[in-house]
Amino acid sequence: MTTFNHRTALVTGAGRGIGRSIAEILARQGVNVICVSKSAESCGATAAAINEAKAQAEAKPGDKTWPRGWAKPLAVDVADGAAIAKASEELLKEFPVIDILINNAGITRDGLLFRMSEADWTDVLTTNLTSCFHWTKLIARPMTRARWGRIVNIASVSGVMGNAGQANYSAAKAGMIGLTKTLAREFASRSVTVNAVAPGFIKTDMTAGFSGNAEIAAKILETVPLKRFGESAEVAAMTAFLCSEEAGYITGQVFNVDGGMAM
Ligand code: NAP
Repeated sequence: MTTFNHRTALVTGAGRGIGRSIAEILARQGVNVICVSKSAESCGATAAAINEAKAQAEAKPGDKTWPRGWAKPLAVDVADGAAIAKASEELLKEFPVIDILINNAGITRDGLLFRMSEADWTDVLTTNLTSCFHWTKLIARPMTRARWGRIVNIASVSGVMGNAGQANYSAAKAGMIGLTKTLAREFASRSVTVNAVAPGFIKTDMTAGFSGNAEIAAKILETVPLKRFGESAEVAAMTAFLCSEEAGYITGQVFNVDGGMAM
C-alpha cells in the first residue's frame, strides 16, 4: 500500500508516453495533476481521459478505485524559461503549494558528434535540462516552506552509461542526475526529496523508430538482459512510489528502469 494524501502534482511532458502514464497513475492514487505538454491538444487529451475516469469512478458508489484526482491541462513550451516563469506564477496563485514535481518532458536530436549541429546540442540541453532548473526553482520554493515535497527527474540510461550518437542527450541526462543529487542535499532539511529515474528502451513515440523496426529492435535487445522493451507504466510505477509518503527516506538516488542494461 502506498499513501498519497490528495497532493497536487505537476508533470511535464504529460501529453504522451511516460509522462502520460505518470499522470494517470498519480491521479488513480487520488493526486490532482497539472498536465503540461507543448501542444494544448496532447495535454488536453491526457487531462480529459483522467477526468473521465474520475467521473466514471465517482458514478459507482463503493468502487474501490475511488477517490481519484482531477487533471488540469496546461500547454507550456518548457524550452522557454519566460513561459515557465509565467505559467508558474499563474499556477501558484491558484495552488499555494504544488507538492510533487515530475520533470519528464524531453526530446532527442541524435547524431554522431562530428555531425551534430550547435542547434541540436542547444535544443536538447534546453528542453531536457535547463527546463528542470526553471521549473524546480519556481515550484520548489513553496514546497520547501511547506516542509514536504517530492521531485522526480526522468533521466535516462544514456545519462548513466553514455550512448554513441547521443552526446547532447547523454550530457543533458547526466546533468539531470547531477542536479538531482545537488538539490537532494539543498532541500533535505525541508523534507523535500529529489530523485531521478533512468529508463532504458521504453515503447513510446520517442523510440517508435527503433521498436518498430525488427532489425534495429533485435540489435538493441542484445544489450537488454530482460530481452524486451519496457512499458511506460513500468517507469510510472517507480516514479509514483518515489512520490508517496512511504518514500520519504529516499533522496539523491537514481533508479534504473531499464531491463538490466546498466547493471
Ligand atoms: P514522448 O513520447 O516523445 O513524449 C514527450 C512528451 O514531452 C510529450 O508530451 C511532449 O509534448 C513533451 N515535450 C517535448 N518537448 C516539449 C517542450 N519543449 N515543451 C513542453 N513539452 C514538451 O517521450 P517519452 O518516451 O515518453 O519520454 C519521456 C521522458 O523520458 C523524456 O525525458 C525522455 O528523454 C525520457 N526517456 C525516454 C526513454 C524511452 O525509451 N522512451 C528512455 C529514457 C528516457 P507534446 O505531446 O505536446 O509533443
